[in-house]
Amino acid sequence: MPMFFLDQKHIPTHYINILPHLPKPLDPPLHPGTKQPAGPDDFSPIFPMELIKQEMSMEKLIEIPEEVRKAYMLYRPSPLIRATRLEKELNTPAKIYYKYEGVSPVGSHKLNTALPQAYYNKMEGVENLITETGAGQWGSALSFACNYFGLKCKIFMVKTSFENKPYRKIMMNIFGGNCIASPSQETEIGRKILAEDPNGPGSLGIAISEAIEQVVQDDKTKYALGSVLNHVLLHQTIIGQEAKTQMQMAGDQPNIVIGCHGGGSNFAGISFPFLIDNIEGKTKTRFIAVEPKSCPTLTEGKFEYDFGDTAGMTPLMKMYTLGKDFMPSPIHAGGLRYHGASPIVSALYNQGLIEAKAYEQDETFAAALQFARNQGIIPAPESAHAIKAAIDEAIKCRETGENKVILFNLSGHGHFDMTSYEKFIK
Ligand SMILES: *Cc1c(COP(=O)(O)O)cnc(C)c1O
Repeated sequence: MPMFFLDQKHIPTHYINILPHLPKPLDPPLHPGTKQPAGPDDFSPIFPMELIKQEMSMEKLIEIPEEVRKAYMLYRPSPLIRATRLEKELNTPAKIYYKYEGVSPVGSHKLNTALPQAYYNKMEGVENLITETGAGQWGSALSFACNYFGLKCKIFMVKTSFENKPYRKIMMNIFGGNCIASPSQETEIGRKILAEDPNGPGSLGIAISEAIEQVVQDDKTKYALGSVLNHVLLHQTIIGQEAKTQMQMAGDQPNIVIGCHGGGSNFAGISFPFLIDNIEGKTKTRFIAVEPKSCPTLTEGKFEYDFGDTAGMTPLMKMYTLGKDFMPSPIHAGGLRYHGASPIVSALYNQGLIEAKAYEQDETFAAALQFARNQGIIPAPESAHAIKAAIDEAIKCRETGENKVILFNLSGHGHFDMTSYEKFIK
């Protein structure tokens, strides 16, 4: 099984900003009250200044602080692996490579942004971070990062996951995070939603509203988001930068780059460093964002301004959205249940620079099992969407005889998702 490891000196020194490369500038976020373009002051109650600057920056490269690079050394660079056994089983002339982000201490790519976010908050004197989490991946990552840089962390966890994934909550507790089921009795919006539907499963939109409601009440407390926003996608570009170097080591250039899509961050992370080459006319790579049919934001959503949360407290963003009140079915891939998509990924999709695809849950689990048996890694149910798309592209190559190079991001492992696997196997 060819594996491509990099020395720690290859941990990227900069984040790559796609904003200055976009063919058309992004539509600006709008203030939720006035509906006028939101400026830095509108974000300063909830984010530290450095992250607000990054959110709007037109610099092509943003330097990674030395402290953050040191923290990345706990688990980076992550390996790039060629799935030769899978290729053989599929009897395809295609080559399949994957970048494995499950090697992080919390088991997913989310730590790549949690660490710089905690760091910048700490530098600006913030003492507490409050956030929301769907499947628990982001909550674990932020708990770890806060503990690493000496901040307190509180997490509103979508109730259905809180109940179905008790081990994620314990992981947050181990790293010092305080995890609460959402909707909760702690906030006005939580109490209102509980009064209407005491047994509702919760949603990311609701959990975000709860977190923000508490954040704005205290200036030593800020908010952190694990996906969607420009600065989060920016931090994840370390994935694609490493992958580019590793693909060179392997002597291959990908024809197709694939990532599963929840809010867009791991897809952006693997894609953007390659996508900039397309925009500059150097390559003709295809990019595929893969989502569940039960939460088909890109493939069936509308491209319009919408709120990031259910209560309508966040700025409005121009994005593909299923509507802020969309209540996804409690699918196993909890990390893919968000109603919106990142504004950057939305714009790229709208302009035809990337493709999107949606799959049913069962077909992604079947792909996950095939992959697990071949490669020995049990993927996160979210990542299984990317695997399914990679397998489909490899099968197409078998039919056409094309020897394409496929690269996908394996965004995390599924060691906390055994209940979901158990249900599927039954
Ligand atoms: C959160 C998560 C996702 C979805 O979020 P994106 O921002 O779209 O990347 C995908 N895979 C894993 C393992 C996750 O934890």
